[in-house]
Amino acid sequence: MARIVMKFGGTSVADLNRIHNVARHVKREVDAGHEVAVVVSAMSGKTNELVGWVENMPKVAGSNAPFYDAREYDAVVASGEQVTSGLLAIALQSMGINARSWQGWQLPVKTDNAHGAARILDIDGADIIRRMGEGQVAVVAGFQGLGPDNRVATLGRGGSDTSAVAIAAAVKADRCDIYTDVDGVYTTDPRIEPKARRLKKIAFEEMLEMASLGAKVLQVRSVELAMVHKVRTFVRSSFEDPDAPGMGDLLNPPGTLICDEDEIVEQEVVTGIAYAKDEAQISLRRLADRPGVSAAIFGPLAEAHINVDMIVQNISEDGSKTDMTFTVPSGDVNKALRVLSENKEKIGYDVAQSESGLVKVSVIGIGMRSHAGVAASAFRALAEKGINIKAITTSEIKISILIDGPYAELAVRTLHSAYGLDKS
Ligand code: ADP
Ligand code: ASP
Ligand code: MG
Repeated sequence: MARIVMKFGGTSVADLNRIHNVARHVKREVDAGHEVAVVVSAMSGKTNELVGWVENMPKVAGSNAPFYDAREYDAVVASGEQVTSGLLAIALQSMGINARSWQGWQLPVKTDNAHGAARILDIDGADIIRRMGEGQVAVVAGFQGLGPDNRVATLGRGGSDTSAVAIAAAVKADRCDIYTDVDGVYTTDPRIEPKARRLKKIAFEEMLEMASLGAKVLQVRSVELAMVHKVRTFVRSSFEDPDAPGMGDLLNPPGTLICDEDEIVEQEVVTGIAYAKDEAQISLRRLADRPGVSAAIFGPLAEAHINVDMIVQNISEDGSKTDMTFTVPSGDVNKALRVLSENKEKIGYDVAQSESGLVKVSVIGIGMRSHAGVAASAFRALAEKGINIKAITTSEIKISILIDGPYAELAVRTLHSAYGLDKS
C-alpha cells in the first residue's frame, strides 16, 4: 500500500464528463488499496474568466488606473477550485468512494501575505493523514491557501501544481502524480514541435530551468518544493483510459519522473528547449561609464517589483559612455520606463528606447556543464535560418537567446533539431 497525491489540471476537469473520468483514475488507486489525496484546478478557462471580471470592473469616471484590492482578487479567483473540488467529491461518492472536499483555509494551507502570488509556508497534514487512514479520499482545492491576515490567498497562475507537491510533502506521500493534457514532459512544447519526444526522466535542476524559462507544464515553485522535499513527482496524462494496462503501476507509472540527476543513467548534453513570449527590451543610450550606474538603474526597478532578466552592457565608441540593454516582461515595460524617467538625472542617460513582443528561447541540459561548443551550435543553427540574436545569457546548464517574436516557433524547431532532440 502506498500514499499517493494525484493532481488534475484545468483541461482534465474541464467539464462533468472529464470530472467523471478523473474520478475513475482516483478509483483505480483507491481500489488498489492506496491512500489517496487529490488536488484539483479550476475548470480550464475559468480562472481567466474570474481574473477578467476583476480586471474589467468599470472604473470611476476620470480614473484610468486599474484598481483592485488583491485580497478581493483572491476571494474571486480562488472560487474556481472550490467548484471542482466539490464536484469531484460528488463524482467519487457516486462511485461508492468515501470522499470529501477541502478548501485551502480548511486544512489549512498557510501562506504568506503576498496576495495573488502567495507562497506556502506550512500545511497541516494531520487531519488528511488521519482520514486517509480511515479510507477517506481528500479532494483539495488547489491554488489557494490562507494568509496571515486570515484571508484567502492564491499562489500565482499555475499554482495548483505547487499545492499538490506541498501537500505530498506534508502528508509524506510516496508519489505525487501531476495529471495534465500531455502524457509527460517533452523535449519542447509538443504544441510547437510535433516531433518533440517524451522524456522518461528529467532532473530537478533541468525541470526548474525548463519551467522558469517558459515551459508551463509545471509551476516553477512546485519543482523547487519537489527538489527540496524529495517528492517523487510524475507528470502524466489524464486522457488515457484510467484502466489501461500499466496505469496503476506503482513504481513505473506512464509519464515523466522528475528526479535527482544521479537517477538518470544516459544523460544527454541538451535535454530540452523552452521559450517565453512577451519579453520586452529596454536600452539606455549613452550612459556615463562610472561605478554605481548599474545600481542606479536596477535599484529603483527592483523597488518597483519589476523583474529584470537579461542584461547586456557595451561600451560605446568614445569609451566614456556605455549602452545598457536589459529585458523585462512586456506587461511591465511602461512601468519600467516611468521608473527610469523618474530617475533619469540620478542615472544619467541620454535616451531610453524600448521594444516589446520579443521572445526568449532557451536550450537546457545538465550535460552542458561538461561539454564545450553547445552555445556555438545554437548560434550557427539560428544564423542559418536568418534569425537575428538580440541578447544572450548563459549559465552552467542553460543558454537563453532573445529574438524577434515572429521567429519564436521557427527558432524552437531549429534548436530542437540542431541538438538532435527529434531523434530517439
Ligand atoms: P494543466 O491545466 O493540466 O495544469 P497546463 O496547460 O498548465 O496544464 O500545462 C500543460 C501544457 O504545458 C501542455 O499542454 C503543453 O502545451 C505545455 N508545455 C510546455 N512545454 C512543455 C514541455 N516541455 N513538455 C510538456 N508540455 C509542455
Ligand atoms: N486555476 C489556476 C490557474 O489557472 C491554477 C492552476 O490551474 O494551476 O492558474
Ligand atoms: Mg498548469
